[in-house]
Amino acid sequence: MAKEFETVIGLEVHVELKTKTKIFCSCTTEFGGEPNSHCCPVCMGLPGALPVLNEEVLNYAIKAGLATNCKIQRFGKQDRKHYFYPDLPTAYQISQDDLPICYDGHLDIEVKGATKRIGITRIHIEEDAGKLVHEEGVGTLVDYNRAGVPLIEIVSEPDLRSAEEVRAYLQKLRAIMQYIDVSDCKMNEGSFRCDVNLSVREKGAKELGTRVEIKNLNSFQSIARAIEYESQRHIREITEGGTLIQETRGFDQNSGKTYSMREKEDADDYRYMPDPDLMPIVIDEAWINSIRESLPELPDKRKAKYMEEYGLNSYDAEQLVTSRELANYFEEAAREAKNVKTLANLLISEIFRFIDLEDFKQPFPAAYLAELVNLIEGGNINISTSKKIIEEMIQSTKSPKEIVKEKGLEQISDPEVIAKLVDEAIANNQKAVEEYRAGKEKALQAVVGYIMRETRGKANPQLVNQMLLERVKN
Ligand code: ADP
Ligand code: MG
Ligand code: ZN
Repeated sequence: MAKEFETVIGLEVHVELKTKTKIFCSCTTEFGGEPNSHCCPVCMGLPGALPVLNEEVLNYAIKAGLATNCKIQRFGKQDRKHYFYPDLPTAYQISQDDLPICYDGHLDIEVKGATKRIGITRIHIEEDAGKLVHEEGVGTLVDYNRAGVPLIEIVSEPDLRSAEEVRAYLQKLRAIMQYIDVSDCKMNEGSFRCDVNLSVREKGAKELGTRVEIKNLNSFQSIARAIEYESQRHIREITEGGTLIQETRGFDQNSGKTYSMREKEDADDYRYMPDPDLMPIVIDEAWINSIRESLPELPDKRKAKYMEEYGLNSYDAEQLVTSRELANYFEEAAREAKNVKTLANLLISEIFRFIDLEDFKQPFPAAYLAELVNLIEGGNINISTSKKIIEEMIQSTKSPKEIVKEKGLEQISDPEVIAKLVDEAIANNQKAVEEYRAGKEKALQAVVGYIMRETRGKANPQLVNQMLLERVKN
């Protein structure tokens, strides 16, 4: 019998913090800028310059920890992590080794109708590195604008089992970071980046397999493709008796393949040591409590509210809280809408496909969305017409009422008009009517379809069905 395998994944997510200034100096953290214009002796690592920790970095890290159910380290320190690469002016990165600010947390994801809890091992603070710019004919240049921008690294337990779970985890994590406003979490600007650690083992095995770390993943799509490719490669190596080595791999978007970058360093290779220039970090209960009190309503809380107050199911509610802007948009429309379930359905099944959920922007005002729901609820239009109106609203700045008026989309609910339509339809579909009378219930759909075509989808479907049944029954 063929062996069954399972993929095991743990994630390291780097989130760039939104502080105004860098982690150890007063240079700006602004994205871009003339190369090396956001620099000073500290972030360029000049001899004699001394780092001083930006307190706001701790506030943000504690916030992130509390929002992901972590414990907060009351006594911490910062460590030098050594590696020689010119994007680091000092040849070491100031990070945290054994005493991260936050540890032992978790978050819940929703996959295939079930809730799954993913462990968060730790969240530590560190400085970002600079950027190497490879220029044809010039050589390699270095830009230290990004060096010293504060990061938190959020490390998960190896609890994830598929690309789908990874996506749900990242979306949830990103939503939380956006809600608490510690980062703008832009994947394309690198303010939310993810490394995937992956191994494969036989189903049921207790031991973890050899892991690889995959870097350069800058979209949800690349992450899913890399996981798929790498899982298959591992299974092939294992079944064919090859050897897997612990290494760092990159992902090539064009070929969809991963490639070896370097053998993975072990912790020993980094020669961690406490940074002697920095004070220990001491955080007291009062500090933690004041941050706890400042936390806004988080995605899970909003989700529970939507399920309870509006009767939405867990999956739909989860979809609506994936970003703070989307949830706010939904809530704004919900305040005016006569039926919130109809509103949620329209948003998820008809409107989501027109918008970029990773960077949500209002496709049209929330008030228009509520107006559309109310037109449906009031019987002025039916669902199929609402789809046409949505398409129109995406492209124009008109309100649903204006579009209905302009295009004559008002639902036909006048019993006299419907009666006439029904008579005409029966006369033109004798065969279907006879089949129905002979016991073939479905045959009547052809008659309804005829009426909908004749009215370009505007006839009130309930009324049509009701009157048609009355007529054909006798
Ligand atoms: P490093 O800093 O050297 O990359 P960490 O201990 O920080 O190592 O672990 C990185 C990530 O790798 C964590 O998210 C962890 O869950 C995950 N991980 C560790 N071992 C495995 C494994 N065998 N398979 C998959 N993921 C793993
Ligand atoms: Mg790592
Ligand atoms: Zn600086």
